[in-house]
Amino acid sequence: MVIETPERSVATPILSHWIGGQPVAVPLDSTGPVYNPATGKVIARVPRGGKAEVDSAAEAAAAAFPAWRDMPLIARSNIFFAYRQLMYENREELARLITRDHGKTFPDALAEVMRGLETVEFACGLPVHLAGMMTPNVSTKVDTFTLRAPLGVTAAITPFNFPVMVPCWIYPISLMCGNTLILKPSSHTPGATQLQAELWKAAGLPDGVFNVVYGGREAVVAIVEHPLVKAIQFVGSTAVGRYVYEEGIKLGKRVGAYTSAKNAMLVLPDADMDLAADAAVASGYGSAGERCMAQTLVIAVGDTADLLRTKILERTARLKIGDGMQPDADMGPIYSQEHRQSIIDWVAKGEAEGAELVIDGRDFTNPDAPDGFFMGVTLFDHVDSGMEIFKEEIFGPVLGIVRAATYEEGIALINGHQYANGTSIFTTDGGAARRFKLESEVPMIGVNVPIPVPAGYLSFGGAKASAFGDLAMRGEDGIRFFTQQKMVTERWPEPGRQGPLSLVFPGNS
Ligand code: NAD
Repeated sequence: MVIETPERSVATPILSHWIGGQPVAVPLDSTGPVYNPATGKVIARVPRGGKAEVDSAAEAAAAAFPAWRDMPLIARSNIFFAYRQLMYENREELARLITRDHGKTFPDALAEVMRGLETVEFACGLPVHLAGMMTPNVSTKVDTFTLRAPLGVTAAITPFNFPVMVPCWIYPISLMCGNTLILKPSSHTPGATQLQAELWKAAGLPDGVFNVVYGGREAVVAIVEHPLVKAIQFVGSTAVGRYVYEEGIKLGKRVGAYTSAKNAMLVLPDADMDLAADAAVASGYGSAGERCMAQTLVIAVGDTADLLRTKILERTARLKIGDGMQPDADMGPIYSQEHRQSIIDWVAKGEAEGAELVIDGRDFTNPDAPDGFFMGVTLFDHVDSGMEIFKEEIFGPVLGIVRAATYEEGIALINGHQYANGTSIFTTDGGAARRFKLESEVPMIGVNVPIPVPAGYLSFGGAKASAFGDLAMRGEDGIRFFTQQKMVTERWPEPGRQGPLSLVFPGNS
């Protein structure tokens, strides 16, 4: 079933919060604009929610919790199967909304939906992962077992760059564990969120289990401070993630924050240089560099840099930049005008710091859409670890080549970085790859793979300034995050038998 709503046929729709299974409309003066970055035009209005909306959503989620927690696992799972099917049937509409709000190409948006779907599919089979451990006879007539109980009301605060995939890395696990949830997505890319809420309703999810509040800082602060919210997973920048984590744990909540990144690929002299150049261009410029797993530093070892640079230039010359709905576009616009300006400022900074500006993407304009937030690709060479463009995340189509004499120098650059999200090695030497996997302090590792995002049933998370909290998202860690393990010790005396009273500490005999 493909969902059609009247809202989507209106020229500039005003999106609604989604609370208690219903859209909650807001007046025009409580909304902000949503832009299509490919045209620079306002295409929707998004509510600016705050404390009042978070209060309503938390109360709806708390009211829905007991019945959802007590619903038989297979009944819960069946709703998930229905949601999975609806999400699949509506994948193209979800992708179109992503492209419209974010700017990434339609095939890239569709791939995002399909990767998000992987975690929904994992959640469909979650009952087996919720099984506890039972041990009989730990003492005379005493058995013990563990069980995983949901926490209650949980929240997901998500970034602009993956409006379907990142929420899908959080809400399926939380809900299938028996929690209820408030999703606070980015206001820059809200269109696909609205559709996800409608799909849950169509799948038969009880009202109040999944709620959406739009907004910015005020909504986030209200979630962090809300006494009913027991656990929060945040995905976004390190600055905001650090606040959510530190304030949240002070208030006794469980918090995982998965934050900014600056990822590097290490290219050894024995690598397949065509594969490495393809990877550098795909990873650095795909989705206009707005992926947390983009590898925007290429550390070329030994004498590989010149050849690699030549091969990267051959490929960038062929890239087509345009509206993400254009079938031949390789790269779309930047998601916002402010962010485009920040990337332009970073390019100026890199030049001032002494990196060699090989391709300058600042002046690119799209003749078909002069008001779109477009820019071209930028390539720096001779980037070094003292430069800000090495140290900081730019989150745009800016790739930097770093020259390292040896493998040891290259891995030291990777392990010495403040961020640790993803990294890859390009080599044909299995021994070098093995060493890299063991020595890398970056947890998500690729071997001859440019964007090593783990499969949807595994956990996802970085380290250092790229993650706050002890557990990653999704997979086994996600289940542990969204449940409280209980340890039960129980005795069922045989009828008529009663032991003597004893004040001795319970033993194991
Ligand atoms: P952001 O930090 O600006 O926004 C993330 C969320 O926080 C959004 O919902 C936003 O509305 C809210 N927010 C923004 N400013 C706030 C403030 N001052 N106070 C409270 N809340 C605020 O991040 P973004 O620009 O949407 O996303 C890009 C960032 O996300 C990049 O740093 C990228 O690396 C990171 N990211 C990380 C991962 C990961 O898994 N590690 C995945 C995707 C994106």
